[in-house]
Amino acid sequence: MVRHDALAPRPGTGPPMWEYQESRENPDLAGIRDRSGLWIDGEETEPLSGKWFSTIDPATEEHLSMVAEAGPADVERAVGAARDAAAGWAAMPATERAKSLFRLARLVQERSRELAVMDTRDGGKPIREARDVDLPLVAAHFFYHAGWADKLEYAFPGAEPRPMGVVGQVIPWNFPLLMAAWKVAPALATGNTVVLKPAETTPLSALRLAEVAAEAGLPPGVLNVIPGAGETGAELVGHRGVDKVAFTGSTQVGKEIRRRLAGSGKALTLELGGKGAHVVFEDAPLDQAVEGVVNGIFFNQGQVCCAGSRLLVQESVAPEFVDRLRRRLSTLRVGDPLDKNTDIGAINSAAQLQRITELVESGQEEGALIYQPPCELPERGFWFPPTLFTDVSQSHRIAREEIFGPVLSILTFRTPAEAVERANNTPYGLASGVWTSKGSRILWMADRLAAGVVWANTYNKFDPASPFGGVKESGFGREGGRHGLAAYLRGVG
Ligand code: NAD
Repeated sequence: MVRHDALAPRPGTGPPMWEYQESRENPDLAGIRDRSGLWIDGEETEPLSGKWFSTIDPATEEHLSMVAEAGPADVERAVGAARDAAAGWAAMPATERAKSLFRLARLVQERSRELAVMDTRDGGKPIREARDVDLPLVAAHFFYHAGWADKLEYAFPGAEPRPMGVVGQVIPWNFPLLMAAWKVAPALATGNTVVLKPAETTPLSALRLAEVAAEAGLPPGVLNVIPGAGETGAELVGHRGVDKVAFTGSTQVGKEIRRRLAGSGKALTLELGGKGAHVVFEDAPLDQAVEGVVNGIFFNQGQVCCAGSRLLVQESVAPEFVDRLRRRLSTLRVGDPLDKNTDIGAINSAAQLQRITELVESGQEEGALIYQPPCELPERGFWFPPTLFTDVSQSHRIAREEIFGPVLSILTFRTPAEAVERANNTPYGLASGVWTSKGSRILWMADRLAAGVVWANTYNKFDPASPFGGVKESGFGREGGRHGLAAYLRGVG
């Protein structure tokens, strides 16, 4: 039986809505070309595979560009170019490597509008987020790692840090340029060369980054970008010329890669899925917590590995908190990602929309109570309204599986111990958030939550100096900080 939330505000009964004037960013700023070739050995090149695929705008389903698909011979070429460049790049004075990365960071800042519009068009994320979150963090990652490039012996005193060699990197589609920066910046700063495979639905900004890097003076072969789907990724991670593999994506593919690489001698880091718990205690500042929870689950349409997709709220304040949350949801603006007023943009692909829809249907069939604020969704493109589920039990699929969409499952707890037990009752362990006005309780919780990151009275705060990564099935290895550098170095223990 499908149950709808009887307490849901009806149209016209919510808080008064402000009228917004449309403020649309110019889509042409992205400078998307008809054809986007591979980037190998410092230049754009035709694929030896002879294959091309279409990348589309998920908000309109409009075709954007034909993108080259790297086949085995292309992977061979890219790894060969990275191998040929490796010795020169590693031997270059570290101050020179640092200068290239500083120039790259500056160019990213100068071209941030173009790159933000590109990620919004290719991926569907709101321009406000691409502009204010992704791009500043991309530049920050290059600046931060440029700073380390000539100081590695101070990062690891007493050690003799050496690059790994050629690094094969595979990234997902949710933060196309930011994930590329998280991967490429530390690898280059530590003297490695890179072959990067972006996700098949969002290949454009990684290719543009390679162009910008060449403009910044990066020698040919140091950064190669080869779009393609899973087969291209599998070809790259399995290539004998790759010394280290860095993968961000689903737990399922991460497990497959780990099995494949066992015994190969290749170094490996895996940044995988999550099912983040947001724990709200009765003494929390409730309005701030509502904002934190909204940011935690609706940022990037919930397509975030560390999304706070489970809300655990203390029973004594649960009705009040859920009521405030419902009201806040009715003010979220869903629609054109290029409009600067938009809070929730398009879902990245038809396949992802189908996965979200299927899981939400399972929640309804299993008896949870659904609430979706009234909102009009555009006719074309891939859309899903912000969704809350109450009456959720731990056994429901929506409480256990990563939905990777704008869907929040709400559970309650009575004691701190129960909150910990519920929060940790998941195979994942990437991120969690704690809301309380007691500092001692934050520390008590942080000690007990099995998660790579615990945010306190905030959520989704990222900084290149702060290591990010998971435990349990969310993977191993860290990105950012000294830990992130260590993942690309030999001889650092
Ligand atoms: P996915 O695992 O399907 O794909 C990720 C990337 O791997 C893509 O580039 C894809 O082409 C490639 N790939 C697919 N099969 C492969 C194979 N056999 N060998 C090598 N590469 C292969 O995941 P997705 O659906 O694109 O991304 C969403 C997932 O990524 C979610 O589970 C999310 O939690 C996770 N993610 C994790 C982090 C993190 O830092 N932990 C960050 C972002 C996303």
